[in-house]
Amino acid sequence: MQTVLSNNIYCPLCCNGNLADYHCDKHRYYLQCEQCLLVSVPQQFHLSSSAEKQVYDQHQNSPHDMGYREFLAKLATPLIARLSNKSRGLDFGSGPGPTLSIMLEDQGHSMKVYDVYYAKDETVLGQSYDFITSTEVVEHLANPKLELERLWSLIEPGGYLGLMTKLVADKKSFSSWHYKNDPTHIAFFSKDTFNYLAQQWGATVEYFGNDVIIFQK
Ligand SMILES: [Zn+2]
Repeated sequence: MQTVLSNNIYCPLCCNGNLADYHCDKHRYYLQCEQCLLVSVPQQFHLSSSAEKQVYDQHQNSPHDMGYREFLAKLATPLIARLSNKSRGLDFGSGPGPTLSIMLEDQGHSMKVYDVYYAKDETVLGQSYDFITSTEVVEHLANPKLELERLWSLIEPGGYLGLMTKLVADKKSFSSWHYKNDPTHIAFFSKDTFNYLAQQWGATVEYFGNDVIIFQK
C-alpha cells in the first residue's frame, strides 16, 4: 500500500501532531500518537455514516440474549458495586437493542439512553448524571476528544464513567488482532491512553479484565 496520508493529521484524542506509523494492513493505516499513545485510523479510511449504520444494523443485540447480558455484566457488576442506591445514569451509544440500561434499571437506578443512530434525543446530553456507561463505543468515535470530554462534563463530582473497549497490548499482538479488522473500529485505546486521560481529567481510573475501564470524577 502506498503512502497516501496527508501531513496535517492530528491525534483525535489529544490533538498532538506527532503521530508515528503503528501498523498497516491491506485496507488501512494505523497511527500512534506519541503523547497519549492512542492508535487511530486516519479519516480517509473511515466509513460513511450510512455504511457504518448498515454494519450496526446487523448487530442482533437484545436484552433477551443471556450471552450478551453476561458480556455486559463485566462492566455492570463492578459499576453497580460502586453506585449509591437510585443513581441516575446515561447509557451513551445504546445501540439497536438497549440492554445495559435495562440491567441497571433492574438494580433500581434510573436510566436515559442516547444513540446517534437509534436514540438520537439530544436533550439527554444536556443533563447531568451520577454515572455514564458506554460499551463498545469509543473504538467507533471519529472525534473521541469531543465525545469523551462532553460525557465527562455531564458527570457529577464523585460520579463514574464506565467504558468497555478492547485494550491495545502491543504492536506485535496488534498485527494479528481481529478487533482492528472491523472497518467501523477507528480508535484503539490502551491502559496508557486511559491513564493519560485520567491524568488530564484529574480522575482515578480502574481496570477490570482486559476491556472494562471505570473512571471516577
Ligand atoms: Zn494523542
